[in-house]
Amino acid sequence: MSEATADIRAKDLFHFCTRCGAARAATAGGAHPFRCASCGFTYYFNPACAVAVIIEDGNGRVLFIRRGREPARGKLAMVGGFADPGETGEEAARREVREEVGLELAGIEYVGAWPNVYHAGGFVVDVLDIFYHARLATTAMSLDPAEVSSAEWQDPRSVAPEEIAFPSMRAALAEYVARRGGAGEE
Ligand SMILES: [Zn+2]
Repeated sequence: MSEATADIRAKDLFHFCTRCGAARAATAGGAHPFRCASCGFTYYFNPACAVAVIIEDGNGRVLFIRRGREPARGKLAMVGGFADPGETGEEAARREVREEVGLELAGIEYVGAWPNVYHAGGFVVDVLDIFYHARLATTAMSLDPAEVSSAEWQDPRSVAPEEIAFPSMRAALAEYVARRGGAGEE
């Protein structure tokens, strides 16, 4: 799917108050929040929160998956996904890694967070992607075929940026590589 698709954000679909049904006032002008002039219902169109993990093999390589579905199907990505309500970032990261590649993480450390724009099904979702890096506690991979078409270990310095699914992932990898230093891991 091309990013040129006429994508729609949820904020553009709020023509009526979802609590009392009043028509949206034409005065608000700005993007957010939605605030109903009749009943006061307020809805904030905050970014969704997603996590991704730079999984390390200890020899300078990290685990890339090929995305099995849109958006960015066929592109390389780190394992990750949207956080569920009530989860910590680390819990979401561990769950996504377990679900997508069947692995358990041994340790998990924060890299940083970058905004992303996620195109799916004709809609656009603004996302804040939180990145971690981690080692593995287990080694037997089991890929979720709905999400992941393949997985490969690569030196992140050797992967072409245009092969990476999202700009946020490119930024996170660049930060990770810069922080790790040019010599790779011990
Ligand atoms: Zn209302």
